[in-house]
Amino acid sequence: MIIDFHTHAPERGEFSDFIKGMDENLIDVAVLCPLGSSVVEISRSNDYIHSLVKTYPDRLIGFASVMPREKDAAAVLEHYIKDYGFKGLKLHPPIQNFSPTDPLIAPVIEKAIELDIPVLFHTGPIYLQSAMTSYGSPLLIDELAIRYPEATFVMAHGDPLGCDPAIASKHPNVYCDTTLRLADLTRIMPNIGEFYLEQLRGDEKLIFGTDSNPTRTWRFKYNLDAIEKMAAPQESKEKILWKTAAKLLKLNN
Ligand SMILES: [Zn+2]
Repeated sequence: MIIDFHTHAPERGEFSDFIKGMDENLIDVAVLCPLGSSVVEISRSNDYIHSLVKTYPDRLIGFASVMPREKDAAAVLEHYIKDYGFKGLKLHPPIQNFSPTDPLIAPVIEKAIELDIPVLFHTGPIYLQSAMTSYGSPLLIDELAIRYPEATFVMAHGDPLGCDPAIASKHPNVYCDTTLRLADLTRIMPNIGEFYLEQLRGDEKLIFGTDSNPTRTWRFKYNLDAIEKMAAPQESKEKILWKTAAKLLKLNN
């Protein structure tokens, strides 16, 4: 079993290529995350993902996104979770232009806690000139997790060499996803996977993700190879590849 916890579906390319990429890499289920920098873009992305999940209900899980500083953001999130069946919230602070510690996003975080859904935050570098890199700082997720210990946060693109593993380790409900960062570092540091688990103080806090989309299906294998190369017991790899994700997505219920 493999769950890819972090993928995207921009409306370009053939979506069947994405499913083909999943099949070729033995990925059973993929979580699709919306992207956009305005209410219009985000709502369009949510709707598109909803249509894809309806087409491939056994293979895809949708995450919602909202512009979290909007007054109705918490109600909009509730609509996507309850009416669309989405199972989490994806937020991209640099692209959506907000700080994770902005008090205005409190209603959205509190709604995510009430709905008992994970919040996947982009963290780390961003290559879009207008996006504020500082909004992607893992230090802001640490501060948010101190403020909301009941919330479940996943730091996307967790950096084994930064503070990220310590932050995930010290908060019972904070996780890192492996998306791209682990694979990039494995190319130059083949032992980084073992180091990552050491810094995380165990294998309970790492979740597999790839950032694949229909025009970048090579990312499935690229990210999987890093897990394969990791010198860790099979039991740990199962947690990384699907068990922890299944717990957060409540797939057993
Ligand atoms: Zn992403």
